[in-house]
Amino acid sequence: MGERNKKILLEQLQIGKNKYCADCNAADPEWASSNVGVFVCVNCSGIHRMLGTHISRVKSCKLDQWDDDSVAFMCERGNEVVNDELEKYLPVYYHKPVSSDPQVYKEQFIQSKYNRKEFKQPGGPAHYEKGRLVGNLHKRGKEDKQYRVRKFVLDANEGTLKYYIKQEAKEPKQSIPLTTLHATLSPEIIDHPNGLQLSFLVNGVTRHIYLYADNGKEAVDWYITIRATVYSNLKEQYSELSNDEIIKRMARNQQKQGWMSKTGPKKTEPYRKRWFVLDDRRLLYFTQPLEAYPKGAIYLGNRQDGYIVRDGLPAGQQESGYGITVTTPERDFLLLCEDQEEQRSWIAEIKNVLTRPLSEQDNKDLINHKQTYEKRRKSVARLASTSLSAVVPTSPKQKQHF
Ligand SMILES: [Zn+2]
Repeated sequence: MGERNKKILLEQLQIGKNKYCADCNAADPEWASSNVGVFVCVNCSGIHRMLGTHISRVKSCKLDQWDDDSVAFMCERGNEVVNDELEKYLPVYYHKPVSSDPQVYKEQFIQSKYNRKEFKQPGGPAHYEKGRLVGNLHKRGKEDKQYRVRKFVLDANEGTLKYYIKQEAKEPKQSIPLTTLHATLSPEIIDHPNGLQLSFLVNGVTRHIYLYADNGKEAVDWYITIRATVYSNLKEQYSELSNDEIIKRMARNQQKQGWMSKTGPKKTEPYRKRWFVLDDRRLLYFTQPLEAYPKGAIYLGNRQDGYIVRDGLPAGQQESGYGITVTTPERDFLLLCEDQEEQRSWIAEIKNVLTRPLSEQDNKDLINHKQTYEKRRKSVARLASTSLSAVVPTSPKQKQHF
């Protein structure tokens, strides 16, 4: 009897959407929630266990004993039927987790889906769409790198995210326009499970803020509420764009980051290790991760305008690593990766950007970028007295790296 049931279950795992985890799409799940009727991967099965057995009873398809009724229930339900019900009202701005997403995101998605059943009823996700959120987050200081509690206020009507040093303060320390704001859950970079990274543009220069929340729900609530608000703003602003195109514009949570080395414009300078962040059409580089301002940026235009990426370095360059050459109309940028996998992945990501046509906004950004960096090259002294002072190189040697 037991063997026959196991065989039926294993057959179920080969059918349609049961081949992938119901919650994170990982291939070949071997676990199940026997009272909900979904098949999940080992990682998500651990999260289901945290929900409690009154919400989800986790069993292994291979190792546990299954009775006839439970097996019949699994055959009747399965991932497609259950997800059609429990994810029916999953909003477009709430992207469903994939297995590589941070654990906190998968945990909160599973809580929202099975415990709070937010996506089952119309209006279930409405609390993300209020356009207003107030709360405390720990913010990393730009200078001393210490995390301190700051009050954050998101306000869709004003189109801003502001933060305040003191709870009762009237004037915000900073007011960030939502037009260029992107939030990313970044536990690894921030080294905190509830880490959150904000990026936005100040006078054409990307600025980062690093935060963490006291608990996972708060972190994901901020992340999703910011996404929902930015989404609705973009939708208003670009009424001609489809939902997909708007989501693509927001797809910065896919941004690639990592170490590469680069040389300067003369190509005789020593290769220096830099932390690179692909932020939409900008390839930013920092001396260290977690810095507020990049040291420089490579704007990635369209390949029809002479922007090219290829593997390897020009002849005469010593390759002590895996080289990448990024050609722009202004100059070649020579980069070195530590291994071939990184080299391939960076080239694929950059190629992706170069083949994408420039939108009207991209064209404006490109002009802005050129002006900003041209200005910076020409007039270090003048810029030093403005709010951009932190991005201005302080020594002639550093200056070459723009
Ligand atoms: Zn999973």
